[in-house]
Amino acid sequence: MTATALKADALKADVPAALHMEGIRHRYGRVSAVDGVSVSVAPGEVVCLLGPSGCGKTTVLRIAAGLEPLQEGVIRLSGVTVAGVGVEVPPERRGVGLVFQDYALFPHLDVLENVGFGLSGWTAADRRSRAEEVLRQVGMIDYARSFPHELSGGQQQRVALARALAPRPRVVLLDEPYSGLDARLRDRVRDEVLHILKASGSACLMVTHDSEEAMFMADRIAVMRDGRIVQEGTPVELYCEPVDAFVASFFGEVNRIDGVVRSGSIETPIGIVPARGLPEGTAATVVVRPEGVKIQPWAPVYSDDPGGVVEQARLLGRTSLVHMTITAPAQPDRSIHLHARVPGVYLPKPGARVRIQVDPTQTFVFGD
Ligand code: ATP
Repeated sequence: MTATALKADALKADVPAALHMEGIRHRYGRVSAVDGVSVSVAPGEVVCLLGPSGCGKTTVLRIAAGLEPLQEGVIRLSGVTVAGVGVEVPPERRGVGLVFQDYALFPHLDVLENVGFGLSGWTAADRRSRAEEVLRQVGMIDYARSFPHELSGGQQQRVALARALAPRPRVVLLDEPYSGLDARLRDRVRDEVLHILKASGSACLMVTHDSEEAMFMADRIAVMRDGRIVQEGTPVELYCEPVDAFVASFFGEVNRIDGVVRSGSIETPIGIVPARGLPEGTAATVVVRPEGVKIQPWAPVYSDDPGGVVEQARLLGRTSLVHMTITAPAQPDRSIHLHARVPGVYLPKPGARVRIQVDPTQTFVFGD
């Protein structure tokens, strides 16, 4: 089920968001870390806060957990206010599971004891059987009697997740949970974590600075900058309809070309780009994703098309990156450096003349 369908279902059934944060502001002394953030996570939904270092993501998560006292705004869990004017439910009574970057397992407890730790109020037998159940889910039951220092980073991460999920929390908060893992392990663990989360039915709010990770995990993504959410939507909405150059460039390297709106369009070395409603005379940035630049070998019939010369080409694995200097026939005195990302092995020689075509769905225009 899609996030939108899930949300619609939740609304239909009048189910409150598992986590709802509204109007959150937070200062550390004179530093404004969070400046009016509102975000909701429906039951079973994964929402990612995505943004550069220092934009306030972790602070939002810490406030949701109750690790940072709320200064302004309101937090509701399944419709019940846990923080707001005159209310501040302590972290251990919020029923929220936490997984932070450093796993934070208790070094003196074995894996089973670590996972059972949060099950206070359960009988010893129930605690043991629930801890074993979640350890089985995360594939760590064989390590129940191991200590954290005997485990790899990926294994510790799975134990940390098991510990967070053991009390069946309505909400799980993940802060850069894969940052300590190498690339291959990260791919595997995040795939497992996604399946486990979806099977658990818990709502999840996750923090990351990695757009690919956010797209992999999230039903919805909220992109943050300077303490604010600048755009929120499904991964497809953010990738295909970014609201500004910042959001566009957060989903991978982009080409940027400056221009001015004249008669409803912007003339650039890659061709005439429609200005999409920007007023006459506006200074604008044309953003083109490298994967939206198609390259063909040059032929004389293309004399009026934008084209250029290859500077260098590099194989990056699944794609090849081609660096070019582009000069349009209509603007012979202006040339730009352009990157194209081409699937597979495509390595034209430096100096080769090429013609380019730009995919309009991968081209965006923003007023400066
Ligand atoms: P990162 O990805 O690097 O963890 P972030 O987006 O999670 O960054 P936060 O950790 O929420 O950002 O920090 C937001 C701002 O608040 C930053 O300017 C940071 O320096 C500041 N900040 C965070 N924690 C504290 C603190 N305990 N005391 C003072 N300033 C803080």
